[in-house]
Amino acid sequence: MTERQRSALAYVGLGSNLEAPRDQLERALSALALLPLSECVARSSLYASAPVGPRDQPDFINAVAAIRTRLSPLALLDQLQALEQHHRRVRNRHWGPRTLDLDLLWYDGLARRSPRLTLPHPEMSRRRFVLEPLAEIAPTLTLGGELPLTLAGSLKDQALTRLVE
Ligand code: AMP
Repeated sequence: MTERQRSALAYVGLGSNLEAPRDQLERALSALALLPLSECVARSSLYASAPVGPRDQPDFINAVAAIRTRLSPLALLDQLQALEQHHRRVRNRHWGPRTLDLDLLWYDGLARRSPRLTLPHPEMSRRRFVLEPLAEIAPTLTLGGELPLTLAGSLKDQALTRLVE
């Protein structure tokens, strides 16, 4: 496992629309807090969003977590993918239903592009279900010079509801 000297701040997007999605997300948030060399420093509320892509599937439950970590970006991605497997993620079709989807959204402002890991996550600025939870825990983070809520403001056609806990 690649260990860094200095800790990095990372944001992770969570989504689920199968098998009690709220429970899936709560369990995943607890598991994120236990990742090696890492600490979960903030989490958003849960949100319900209409699916992107095929509409014949349940709504998604989404959230965003902030992780302070000494894992390298790829080591953190490995951990997130292991967690997805642990939740027996089923991925039958592109943009189809899934028990747990974890995206590494942002890692210390790093920009990189490779088949395994693109940072910041290439879709994050176009997804209201990422931007509004992110705005809750990182209101001043800038993405291409814009605040999350500013970017979300032009995506009101994407249905999103904050769930009261
Ligand atoms: P998806 O099915 O949409 O969750 O895509 C997963 C694939 O995207 C995996 O093969 C990852 O290696 C790759 N990937 C590239 N960049 C990222 C990222 N920032 N976060 C999560 N997965 C990524």
